[in-house]
Amino acid sequence: MNIEDFIRDIPDFPKEGIVFKDITPLLLSPEALKETTSLLLKMVGNSKIDKVIGMESRGFFFATLLARELDAGFIPVRKPNKLPAKTISESYGLEYGSDILEIHEDAINEGDKILIHDDVLATGGTAEAVCKMVQRLGGEIIQCNFLIELTFLKGADKLKGYNLQSLIKY
Ligand code: IMP
Repeated sequence: MNIEDFIRDIPDFPKEGIVFKDITPLLLSPEALKETTSLLLKMVGNSKIDKVIGMESRGFFFATLLARELDAGFIPVRKPNKLPAKTISESYGLEYGSDILEIHEDAINEGDKILIHDDVLATGGTAEAVCKMVQRLGGEIIQCNFLIELTFLKGADKLKGYNLQSLIKY
C-alpha cells in the first residue's frame, strides 16, 4: 500500500497560492490508517516514551494513536484560551499567519521522555514553539515525528539538534 495515494492536494486552501496537503482520505481508510500508524511507530523505534504531544488539531489524530501503541500518555498543545488549567505559551510564525500555542503547565514532569507529533512540518515554526515549551517544562525531546514534511519550506532548519523524522517528504 502506498499511503501517498491517500493524501490529496487542495489548491488555494486556506489562502490563494497555498497547496494544502489533505490527509482526510487517509483517515477515512481503515487500512491506510492502520498502515500509517505502524509506519510512524517504526520511526520511533525502541525508544522509551512517557508522553506524546499532538498539535491542534490535525496532530491529535496520530499522536493519540501513537500514545496508545507506545503505552504513553497524550498531551494536547492548543491555540490560546482552549486549555482550562494553568498554561505556558509560545508565539510562533506559521506558513500562513502567526499565532500562539499553549500547553498545560502540569502536563510534563522533569525528565519526561517526549515524542512530538504533527501531521505536517512546513516552516517549522509550530514545532519549534512546542520544543521550546517542552524544554521550559523540563521534558526530554526524544523525537519530532511528522507524517509529512514540506522540505522546500525548510522547517528542518528550525529543528536542528533534534531527532527529526518524517514519513513522507515533498
Ligand atoms: P509550520 O509551523 O509552518 O511548520 O506549519 C505546520 C502547521 O501548519 C502544522 O500544525 C500543520 O497542521 C499546518 N499545515 C501547514 N501546511 C499544511 C498542509 O499543507 N496541510 C495540512 N496542514 C498544514
